Amino acid sequence: MSETKHHLFEEDKLSEECAVFGVFGSSEAHLLTALGLHALQHRGQEATGMVTFDGNQFNEKRGLGHVSENFNASSMKMDELAGYSAIGHNRYSTTGQSEFRNIQPFLTELAFGEFAIAHNGNLTNAERVRRTLVDTGSLFQSTTDTETIIHLVARSRRSKPEERIKEALLQIEGAYALVALTKDMLIGVRDPLGVRPLILGQLNQSYILTSETCALDIIGASYVRDIDPGEMVLIDKNGVRSIRISEKTNSRFCIFEYIYFSRPDSVIERKSVYGARKMIGAELARESHIIADLVIPVPDSGVPAALGYAEESGIPFELGIIRNHYVGRTFIQPSQDARSSSVMMKHNANTEIIAGKDIILVDDSIVRGTTSRKIVKMMREAGAKSVHMRIASPPTINPCFYGVDTPDKENLIAAKLNLDNIRNEIEADSLAFISIDGLYRAMGENKRNKDAPQYCDACFTGDYPIAPSRDFISRSKKDGI
Ligand code: AMP
Repeated sequence: MSETKHHLFEEDKLSEECAVFGVFGSSEAHLLTALGLHALQHRGQEATGMVTFDGNQFNEKRGLGHVSENFNASSMKMDELAGYSAIGHNRYSTTGQSEFRNIQPFLTELAFGEFAIAHNGNLTNAERVRRTLVDTGSLFQSTTDTETIIHLVARSRRSKPEERIKEALLQIEGAYALVALTKDMLIGVRDPLGVRPLILGQLNQSYILTSETCALDIIGASYVRDIDPGEMVLIDKNGVRSIRISEKTNSRFCIFEYIYFSRPDSVIERKSVYGARKMIGAELARESHIIADLVIPVPDSGVPAALGYAEESGIPFELGIIRNHYVGRTFIQPSQDARSSSVMMKHNANTEIIAGKDIILVDDSIVRGTTSRKIVKMMREAGAKSVHMRIASPPTINPCFYGVDTPDKENLIAAKLNLDNIRNEIEADSLAFISIDGLYRAMGENKRNKDAPQYCDACFTGDYPIAPSRDFISRSKKDGI
């Protein structure tokens, strides 16, 4: 591999949690997509894009920033985007290296016509595949792993787009929920293990594909079903067809979608995210009971788990921390300094509630430890007598290679320190994480099946269901995925 090629591939980190959305068969496909992407904003705030087909031509718009900044009523471009089928994407990345050319959906002209694609997930062998493609003449326009799929589809000798996509995906490893658009068809695919979510919905005569059900609610669409792991759905004027891209196996849906990433009002794999979080909180209370005056969530992500904790323990729930909603998620900040200050910008102590109390703080996860340290300090400054931290996930000790943004191992506090040292570092009076079996119990399982885990929980266990290639691991480490 030459330096140039390596550099080209590494210009931008690949790891990002994203949202995908698609519509087929509505004269308002562009408007529905804008609304859907808006509901999925939490999955990616860096950039957004949309490609539509109006029966005659493809239209496209991409931009940095939030959906509402790019697709709104006053945007002249909205009329130009009018179409009866559409796909859209929200992108999440934590580095400043994002570039316009990496904003999805991508739109290309292939032998069978125009082809647009958007991807949520992370392809673990994309670098190797890309190198082979570049060596044999492919010219890449972006630095994303998603583009690899386009080149593989372009090279396929099969006639039908769906056969070409299937052939391409057989050469790809990793996690993906894809939406794609041709002039006749909306296509959705989920990787063989179903690591990332993809859901089918219906609105009158039109069909919807979405990362989460909250995007169905906003447009008044009904839930039809989750796309199966290893399934490709083909939606055209005749309705929905389904083909398999892989044999059925045990799925490994990302458990962190339930813990943190998905919106609590979403239902994924027929399980309510909110309900799951409350059950995790209740299990946490059973596992690590402590006497205190108040249960306080770290808002917003800690709220459902804290409610579950309070209900189970009988300790009153109070909003002891108020969140400013006009600040992005902590992780979006590029440097440690900026991240620390944004915790303060984001949260403030509700001093009246806190002063003189023994409190239990509930958060969904500890990653670097930045949030916990700041919040514990804030509670003490507000006069808390003691601060007991309870975490609604096991310690995060491994990076995710399948699309959730986590830092490299050296920056994961739980990978470096034992429980007591973490407690010491965040200056809490006590600290407990839910156990891995406790987490599985909360998800309705007896326990984690060690031989065939019911979920992907690699961030907690190191049990990666798709072995990442060595190239991928070293690049992830370098980029701080
Ligand atoms: P930290 O401050 O690094 O320990 O991060 C923990 C906080 O970040 C928790 O309050 C979580 O709600 C949130 N969090 C956890 N995982 C992620 C992620 N992948 N992206 C953005 N935020 C996250």
